Amino acid sequence: MKRFDRHKTLADYRQQIDQCVKCGACRAHCPVFGEEGRETVVARGKVTLAHALLNGEIEPDPLLSENLSKCLQCGKCVRRCPNLVPVDDIVLAARREIAARRGLSLFGRSLTALLRRPRLMQLLAGSARRAARLLFRRIPQQSGLRLRFPAPFIDRQRSLPAFARQSFRRRHPEFISGRPNRPLVALFTGCMINYLYPQIGEGALQALAALGLNVVIPKEQGCCGLPALSAGDGATASELAARNLRAFSERQPDQIVTLCASCHSGLTRHFRDLGPDYEALAERVIDINALLVSQGLEEILHALPQPVQCPMVTVHTPCHLRNSGLDDPPKQLLAALPTINLVKMNKANACCGLGGTFSVHHYQTSRQLGAIKATAVKESGADLVATACPGCIMQLQDSLDQAGLPQRACHVLELVGEALAKEK
Ligand code: SF4
Ligand code: SF4
Repeated sequence: MKRFDRHKTLADYRQQIDQCVKCGACRAHCPVFGEEGRETVVARGKVTLAHALLNGEIEPDPLLSENLSKCLQCGKCVRRCPNLVPVDDIVLAARREIAARRGLSLFGRSLTALLRRPRLMQLLAGSARRAARLLFRRIPQQSGLRLRFPAPFIDRQRSLPAFARQSFRRRHPEFISGRPNRPLVALFTGCMINYLYPQIGEGALQALAALGLNVVIPKEQGCCGLPALSAGDGATASELAARNLRAFSERQPDQIVTLCASCHSGLTRHFRDLGPDYEALAERVIDINALLVSQGLEEILHALPQPVQCPMVTVHTPCHLRNSGLDDPPKQLLAALPTINLVKMNKANACCGLGGTFSVHHYQTSRQLGAIKATAVKESGADLVATACPGCIMQLQDSLDQAGLPQRACHVLELVGEALAKEK
C-alpha cells in the first residue's frame, strides 16, 4: 500500500517564507542560537535555508539536515516575529522535504517503525522493563536510571525513567462511568504516560472522578504523531492521525482530553491541516488542566484539608502549552492545592531543552539548556518542579540529576491526584 502524507509541503509555505524580512528579532529569543551563536541555527537562518532548498539553490545534504535538526520547536521565534513567520512549521516541512528526497535517517526509520506498531511498542516496553537490571544502574536519590553500556541513539549520560510494570491503558477498562448526565470525555494517554509515567494518568482519573465525569480510554489509540513529524516522516504522522480519528470517533465523546502539552499540540495544531474530519476532532481536544479548571476542580481542591507540612513546589511552563495560550490552568490548579506551597521560579517559561528528537541528536546543547532550568529550580528553594508535559518531566529530571540536585520533577496531575486520594 502506498503511504501518503497529508501535511502541507514546503512549497505550500512559500508565501510565509517570503514574509521573513531578515530583521533578526528572533536572534534574541531562539534558545539554540543563545547556546551556539551561529546564524544557520537561528530562526532567520533556518528560513533562509528552507528558501534556498525550495528554490533548488542548495542540495538536501547531511549538513542541511544537521542545521535544520537544530530546532526545539519551542515557537519562541514565532511569538516574537513581527510578521508571525511560522518558523517551527517551516522547519518541519523542510525536514519532510529532505526525507522525501533523501530518505529518513536511521534514527528516523527506527523511531517511526515503532510508532506505527503500538503492539510492538507494548512488547518492547515489557522486554525493556525485564532487561532494565542488565541495561541500567540506579543512580543516587532514586531519581532515575542510567545506561550501563551503549544503546542506539541514547547518550549514556542521560538519566531515564523506568518502564511501567503495566501500561496505563492495560490497567483500566475502556469505559469508566461517572455520574449520570455528566459529559463523556475521552482520554488521550500519549506514549510516555502509557508506558513510562502511568501515575500521571492515575492522577487524571482521580480528578475526573472527583468531577463525576464519564471517561473512555480508547484502546486503539496511537501516538499523537509529533515524534514522527519531528523526524520528517509525514506519512507515518498521517497514518497515526487516521488511527486516532477512528479511535476517538467511535463513542462520540464530548471532549478529547490530552494530559501532555506536546500531545495537545500534535492533536490540535498539526491536525488542522489534514482535512475537515481532523479539524472537527481538533476542535474537541482540550488540555486536562483547562478542562479541570472549567469544570470547577479548583473549588474541590480548595476545600481539602491542609497538612501540617507541605512541600515547596515551583512550576515550569511547557512551550507547547504556552504557545496555545494555556499557561494559566496548571498554575491555577497548583494554587488551589492546600497540600503544597507554591513558589515562583526565574525562567519558568524558558524551554527545558528537550525538543523531541533535538535532545537525541544534540544532547550537549540540550544539557546546557537543561542546566539553566536546574539552576532556576535550585534558586527557587522548591522541593519539586511541577509541569504539564511528560517530555519536560524527563528532561527536567535529567537536568536536576546532572546538576547533582535532589529535587524531583513531576506532573501537576500527580500532585492533584495524591491530594484527592488522601481525602477519600
Ligand atoms: S523569522 Fe521573523 S523575526 Fe526572524 S528574521 Fe524573519 S521576520 Fe525577523
Ligand atoms: S522554534 Fe525555537 S529553537 Fe526553533 S528556531 Fe524558533 S526559537 Fe529557535
